[in-house]
Amino acid sequence: MEFCIEDLIESQDNSENYFEIENNKECFKKLKTLSNFENLKIKINFNSLNLGEKLYGNTKKETLVIQKKNCKYLLKFYKIVKKTVKFLKKKSNFDGKIYINNLSEKKNNNDLMLIGLLDVDFNVKMFYKLNGAYEHACDFFDAENSLNKMCDFHDNHCTKHRDKGIDKTTGCCPSFCKVRVTGEPCKHKNLSCKIFMCDYLIYEKGFYFTPNTVAVLCKHMTPLERAICFGILCRTQRKSLKFLWFVRGLTVLYLILMVAIILMFCL
Ligand code: SF4
Ligand code: SF4
Repeated sequence: MEFCIEDLIESQDNSENYFEIENNKECFKKLKTLSNFENLKIKINFNSLNLGEKLYGNTKKETLVIQKKNCKYLLKFYKIVKKTVKFLKKKSNFDGKIYINNLSEKKNNNDLMLIGLLDVDFNVKMFYKLNGAYEHACDFFDAENSLNKMCDFHDNHCTKHRDKGIDKTTGCCPSFCKVRVTGEPCKHKNLSCKIFMCDYLIYEKGFYFTPNTVAVLCKHMTPLERAICFGILCRTQRKSLKFLWFVRGLTVLYLILMVAIILMFCL
């Protein structure tokens, strides 16, 4: 099932057969009391989450960091969305289209994150969820970057070099790898590069990403894997994922070994 989100205000759809998902426990109970599920559409009330204005928060360093609690709220809210989608999939001809009722003036990519979470849960096979989460996190960082114009290239010059008047057309990439020859977008979908912000962006512009604040990564990666995502700069997506799988394999092996040792002592 392909999930997509449409803005209810801009949508041409005039039917009124919507079920509104709100951020409260009663919401799912309300859904169960309905009698007709055919052609029922999902409308998400992001405003009930009150996330819109608070996507970034000031830290002591006056740096804007995606707030960790937003990730927690979003994951909690997502549980209600997932339950609703599962229910409607069983009961009706739900087509994956979700409408948002986003009255907040500040644009953000919470809807993209929600789509990512739904896609990984419903469309990606068990064994590939790590890869799916990686892909969606890359898309999220790209969208955040272009929305907030963080590390962004014009005439081959990146934000920092433009602002500082430095005539360098490759950004800071050559200090990490040799792939980018001009300011053209890098062809590698590399999560650590997308998370990376130079000192100028952090301390002078106030942008900072961490993998711990991205819901799809928090759901499908362990803290160790997320920390690794932060550290393996300039690898290709394939190499990064291979490394992450290697670490996951080692973790599973370690856990099995620990359980075996505990059992040996207990028996
Ligand atoms: S992160 Fe690198 S490419 Fe982006 S603005 Fe900073 S120096 Fe330029
Ligand atoms: S892989 Fe990363 S460091 Fe290398 S060119 Fe691409 S964005 Fe720059």
